[in-house]
Amino acid sequence: MTKKIKCPYCGSEHIAEYLRGLPVFDEELQKAVENGEVIIAGCLVYPGDPDYRCRDCHKDFGGNLAKMLVSDDEVLEFAKKNGFEGIKYLGSYEGYHVYDALFNTDPNVILEVGFPQFILVKEDQMDFADDRISGDIRHYFASEEDDEDDEEEDEQ
Ligand SMILES: [Zn+2]
Repeated sequence: MTKKIKCPYCGSEHIAEYLRGLPVFDEELQKAVENGEVIIAGCLVYPGDPDYRCRDCHKDFGGNLAKMLVSDDEVLEFAKKNGFEGIKYLGSYEGYHVYDALFNTDPNVILEVGFPQFILVKEDQMDFADDRISGDIRHYFASEEDDEDDEEEDEQ
C-alpha cells in the first residue's frame, strides 16, 4: 500500500511524482507516465528539486523544494502593483516557485520592470527574476510548453 501524498497547497491527493535519473522503462512505468502519475524529469539534478507536483493546482512540492509561504493572491497583488495583469504558475526552478507575470494590455499602464518577467517565490520572499536567470527560466519552461506556440493570428 502506498501512503497517500497530499498537496500542501490545495489538499488534493491527485499527485504526480517526479522521476529523475535514467529510469528503466517497463510497461508499468510507461502506463504511469501516460496517466500523469509520474513525470520524467530528466537526469539533470537541480538544487531544490521537488518530489511531487499537484495535478489539481499544478504546484511543485516536497523533496528539497522550500515551501511557498505566500498565496497565489499575494503573488497576484505583487504582480498587479508592478503593472501586470495576471499570473500563471509555471513550476519550480532551482528551488524557486516560478510565476509568469502576464502583461497588461492597457497601453496606459507603464511597466516599471523589463521583459521577460518571472516572479520567483521562496518561502515568504518574492521578487522578479533578474535578466540573467530569466533567460534560463524561459528556456527551462519552454521545453515543457512547446505546445503553447503563439497562434494568435487575426482571422479578419
Ligand atoms: Zn494542489
